[in-house]
Amino acid sequence: MRLRNIAGSREVIADSDFTVKEPDKKKGLWKEVFGNDNPIRVEIGMGKGRFLMDMAQLHPDINYVGIEKYSSVLLRALQKQEQLLLPNIIFIRMDAEEITEVFAPSEVDRIYLNFSDPWPKDRHAKRRLPSRQFLERYDKILKSDGVVEFKTDNRDLFMFALDEIEPAGWNLDAVTYDLHNDEKMMIGNVMTEYEERFSQAGNPIYKYIISRKGSK
Ligand code: SAM
Repeated sequence: MRLRNIAGSREVIADSDFTVKEPDKKKGLWKEVFGNDNPIRVEIGMGKGRFLMDMAQLHPDINYVGIEKYSSVLLRALQKQEQLLLPNIIFIRMDAEEITEVFAPSEVDRIYLNFSDPWPKDRHAKRRLPSRQFLERYDKILKSDGVVEFKTDNRDLFMFALDEIEPAGWNLDAVTYDLHNDEKMMIGNVMTEYEERFSQAGNPIYKYIISRKGSK
């Protein structure tokens, strides 16, 4: 059985206190959701949520929103959160294509893209999370000095992502082609599930940090 087809996961998610139902109704109101003024950081395509839950434990003064398209993987994050009960993390089951319906301008402080799906066919390029179409969406919700951090082991996807920066009107602030051997870029690095798997297999991990032109 494919993981994404686990029976009942959609219903469990709909009933969970750890997910936001009708997230578009929270647009502009995320500070109220968390009950404080702390910065809001979003991971798009969080899978089972290991990275974001580790981040939430390390940084209790930051609020984290995990976005995931598929119920069956999101379910794993909810099961973990039932034990951890972290106050500074919440999840949304949604397609990130709708992200501008969910966050108001400048509401988000940082966006994490970790091991995003490569969508290798050219005609699917606009579905890639670091594509210019998605950068345009991130531009609408990020604070003026907000950044996007992207990690992957997929060289083709990374090269594509680098080529999208300039035409989309963003700056490359930092880049590495071998994160785990880059002392500076490794400071504060928190491994994702895929990162652990692929780095153990010997794959180099690529990472960039980008911001909008003129934000510095
Ligand atoms: N970030 C995790 C990690 O690094 O371990 C999971 C990586 S997994 C390869 C990519 C995840 O992104 C999948 O769970 C997929 O369902 C999710 N995803 C892909 N496109 C998405 C979209 N448009 N909106 C929300 N989630 C998406």
